[in-house]
Amino acid sequence: MKVLFAASEIYPYVKTGGLADVSQSLPTELSSQVEITSIVPLYEFIDREQYGIVPAGETFQVILGSKSYDITLYQSINEGVNTLFVYEPTLCNRPAPYGDKGGDYANNDLRFGLFAKTIVVLAEMMDVDVLHLNDWHTALAALWAKEMLLKTRVIFTIHNLAFQGIFPKKSLQRLGIEEYYFTPESIEYWGQINCMKAGITYSDVVTTVSPSYAEEILYPKNGCGLEGFLQVHSYKLYGILNGIDTDIFDPEHDPSLVCPYSISKITNKQLNKMHFCEESQLSNAYKPLVVFIGRFTQQKGMDTLIQALPRILKMKINMAIIGSGEEIMEDQLRQIASNHDNLSLYVGFDEAYSHRMYAAADFLLMPSTFEPCGLNQFIAIRYGTVPIVHPVGGLADSIKDMNNHESSICPKGILLTSVTKTAIHKALKEACDLYADQKLFKSIIHHNMKCDVSFTQSAKRYLALYFDRVVDEVIS
Ligand code: ADP
Repeated sequence: MKVLFAASEIYPYVKTGGLADVSQSLPTELSSQVEITSIVPLYEFIDREQYGIVPAGETFQVILGSKSYDITLYQSINEGVNTLFVYEPTLCNRPAPYGDKGGDYANNDLRFGLFAKTIVVLAEMMDVDVLHLNDWHTALAALWAKEMLLKTRVIFTIHNLAFQGIFPKKSLQRLGIEEYYFTPESIEYWGQINCMKAGITYSDVVTTVSPSYAEEILYPKNGCGLEGFLQVHSYKLYGILNGIDTDIFDPEHDPSLVCPYSISKITNKQLNKMHFCEESQLSNAYKPLVVFIGRFTQQKGMDTLIQALPRILKMKINMAIIGSGEEIMEDQLRQIASNHDNLSLYVGFDEAYSHRMYAAADFLLMPSTFEPCGLNQFIAIRYGTVPIVHPVGGLADSIKDMNNHESSICPKGILLTSVTKTAIHKALKEACDLYADQKLFKSIIHHNMKCDVSFTQSAKRYLALYFDRVVDEVIS
């Protein structure tokens, strides 16, 4: 079976979040079962030399609306997976994948429309059996695959329904999409076009990244305006929990760590904490270290965490935060950090530094208001860091309360009852109590590090969908 797996970001070439991780780890896991090729734009900031990206010897033209674009293909191998890179200046000559502080790039319709059309042209050239599309950036490929009558089976995975790729109606013409697609049953959305709807409408199967999120998006609270539309398509909607690449996220062989460790050499985790506290100027490394790694947005609960911080920082806790996002939140955090020596703040994106945080931390805090899956909790489990999560979406499916002996979920953590200041304070108090009981704390770490957080089981479910076999979590 030949599969083409398309995404707007793939680790390690380009990463802004979990989509990049999954777009590396899932194809890697599937590559022993199917002939899989990944495809991603060759953004100008991707270091071709570092990653051995070379011309694939293929150039062709793609027509979008009234214009023709010259596409050049490049290639490399990523953890054994053949990876194709699409180069075209309109798509690639930008300093970031999606936008800057001013917002999303205004021509993202054209950029990702071009990427989507190229994916379909290649799917036809390669005669693939399955086209696996991810998020709105690739979603228009489902429409064109149907229009071009490809016999390819199309799978569309929603990683976050909050980002839908909505553009003014005039984009139809720019993209060369016929007016008859402009209906509520197709891609029209309140007078605009919605790329996510194309993925949902024209794919054979729609998946999302956890069973709970697959249910949550059918209702107004998390449906982001598409709940009714998704209900219509729920007969082909599946929720498959993500995993991580346990070879990349491996504290025993992680080159970013000062002291590698494993379950049998867990005392070395403490050395990582000592080094990290020194690196980030946190005093008294014997206090529990709580970390937050992620986007500063309301989704990730950062607004509530900011409100909760002054009281948290009065507790006997060291806190470290890495991320970026809404400017107002970045400024508020800078202000709080400047007045507290037990808060370390890193505004930005740094893969190696984040690995050192996972390794150093005692607890990882995820007060998300909604969470399609979340990968941070899996990484924390792998690094022996106890997660403190709000049990929604994938967090509900992957972490159980440490006092719950009935749940079949393996990893244990502390669950927030809601995303409020009070609930965060209560959970952190519980964390401090747990940390004080070192015997119990270590037994949870030991238990968690033995849980399977790899992609192996979930990849089998994707495989079943590729082959059109029965999968256990149908939502209908
Ligand atoms: P998202 O909703 O942002 O995709 P996920 O939990 O699915 O969140 O995945 C986040 C991924 O990005 C994880 O690998 C996490 O470690 C990483 N990450 C998030 N923020 C940063 C950052 N500022 N620096 C380094 N890595 C980060």
